[in-house]
Amino acid sequence: MSGPLLSIEGLRVYYFLPHGAVRAVDGVSLYVDRGEVLGVAGESGCGKSTLAHAVVRLVRPPGEIVSGRIVFKGVDLLRLSEEEMRRIRGREIAMVFQDPNTYLNPVYTSGFQVAEVFEAHEGVGASGALERVVEIFRMVKMPDPPRRVHAYPHELSGGMKQRVLISIGIAARPSLLIADEPTSSLDVTIQAEVIDVIKEIQREMGMAMIFITHDLGLLSEIADRIAVMYAGKVVEVGPAQELMSDPLHPYTRALVDSLRLVRGSRLPTIEGSPPSLIEPPPGCRFHPRCPMATGRCRAEEPPCTDLGGGRTVSCHLYGGG
Ligand code: SF4
Repeated sequence: MSGPLLSIEGLRVYYFLPHGAVRAVDGVSLYVDRGEVLGVAGESGCGKSTLAHAVVRLVRPPGEIVSGRIVFKGVDLLRLSEEEMRRIRGREIAMVFQDPNTYLNPVYTSGFQVAEVFEAHEGVGASGALERVVEIFRMVKMPDPPRRVHAYPHELSGGMKQRVLISIGIAARPSLLIADEPTSSLDVTIQAEVIDVIKEIQREMGMAMIFITHDLGLLSEIADRIAVMYAGKVVEVGPAQELMSDPLHPYTRALVDSLRLVRGSRLPTIEGSPPSLIEPPPGCRFHPRCPMATGRCRAEEPPCTDLGGGRTVSCHLYGGG
């Protein structure tokens, strides 16, 4: 099949609150090719997690997908019934979330929760499923897999619980895995181990991945391409190494510069704070924090400029004219 595996076109997701609509994702277009890792970076509240939830249609009220298309393997997911979407979720597109404690059920063993995926999507019986869970636990480098399948979540460490969540995500061998800050609740050593596991599995299975994090440094290690989001919009996209070595958008530049200053730290803070998404600033949303801002930036929204070589940037500095 030609075309990307996933194509997000002009997506808008708003949260309708009593005091106004929060434009969490506001006209985002991105694609993911088969087998590639697209990293999505940005400060908290920039819309990256909402974007992830929208792809699997798990945006809950008062959130709503207002407009756009999410085309996966040629099918617009926004046109599917909930029943059709359920068949895609988990089997074709799976998610690994940030906090295992929220997503693991404390009353079932870890093995049972992974086995459920086989039962739901392949009709595999309980005992056969459990054997496959042991295999998957080996893949995610769970210590002592035959024992851990019988363990309840509270008997597992944070790193082990995240390995269970990853196992649930990959059990049906999805074409696309969406990992939303999968390691942010872990300490640095365990984080590195879990990232290695995710990278290895992604390569072995050849699945595509959207990896979402506030940690741009981490993305430079794992992603083929990086998309930087700011205030509900994608401001720059490019091949990971090029974007890191030659960031174009002033926001990306500030992120990369601060990383160089504080090596190994999480996404550093940039002077000022992200704008309200109920009443975002006119023109370029980054203009109140941008050292390069001009009158035009305050009045006109910058278009997305294609610079070739897979690089796009939304900034008047590159828009010509
Ligand atoms: Fe800065 Fe203007 Fe570019 Fe926005 S459009 S990032 S304000 S230079």
